[in-house]
Amino acid sequence: MKKLVAGNWKMNLLPSQVGDYARRFLAEVGKLEGVELLLCPSDTALPAAVEAFSGSNVFVGAQNMHSVCSGAFTGETSGEMLLDLGVTHVLLGHSERRHVFAEDDELIHTKLVLAHELGLKPILCVGEKQEQRESGSTERVLREQFEGSLGKLPAELLAATVVAYEPVWAIGTGLTATPEIARQAHAFLRSLLVEKLGEVASTVPILYGGSVKPANAAELMSQPDLDGVLVGGASLKPESFAAIAKAALKT
Ligand code: PEP
Repeated sequence: MKKLVAGNWKMNLLPSQVGDYARRFLAEVGKLEGVELLLCPSDTALPAAVEAFSGSNVFVGAQNMHSVCSGAFTGETSGEMLLDLGVTHVLLGHSERRHVFAEDDELIHTKLVLAHELGLKPILCVGEKQEQRESGSTERVLREQFEGSLGKLPAELLAATVVAYEPVWAIGTGLTATPEIARQAHAFLRSLLVEKLGEVASTVPILYGGSVKPANAAELMSQPDLDGVLVGGASLKPESFAAIAKAALKT
């Protein structure tokens, strides 16, 4: 399968900065084949991003969505609204949503089902905290998050989901999982997928996220079961995100 290189701008970059970013990014990667590219700007930058990347090889996704389509939920954005903008993907269960906004697996599961119903491609993030890794609980935590958010999905929807392993201790900290740590976690997540899907499990992309940079991207993406990356900080500069996209082709 093609590697998927996804960027998460979080609450950074203004709508007025999207055009310049897109011009510089597409100058580097606009003709790149053999890798799938996705950018997830903030909600307010989505319309500018959909326009700037329309007709290009870059998909545009959202960083979150509400668990229902409309109603009295002041300040929220629904999947239907994202779809109407031309967004194709949505990140769900990012560690900042889990830990800063207290989203639990049940809520994330509801959002996943709705994203599939709407035809938005969900990228489900899972990952352990530092103390959980240190106490030897990594696999228990990953299994719990996997079962809680994905376990009840019908097989055909699970097969159409992207999974992202994002160890919380590596997100925005500059601490990257070693290739060996990433390899073990990805092999474990693949085994969970195999339990549910059998052979089809090999078609579900498992991304790695956590301080990915141009310097470590190729080695990480050379690990088995590591089908791409989800990049925060290093996706804010078009040239560094482009370098990561090109690194995918060397793996
Ligand atoms: C992320 O936000 O998903 C992420 C992995 O961030 P960073 O690359 O900055 O660690």
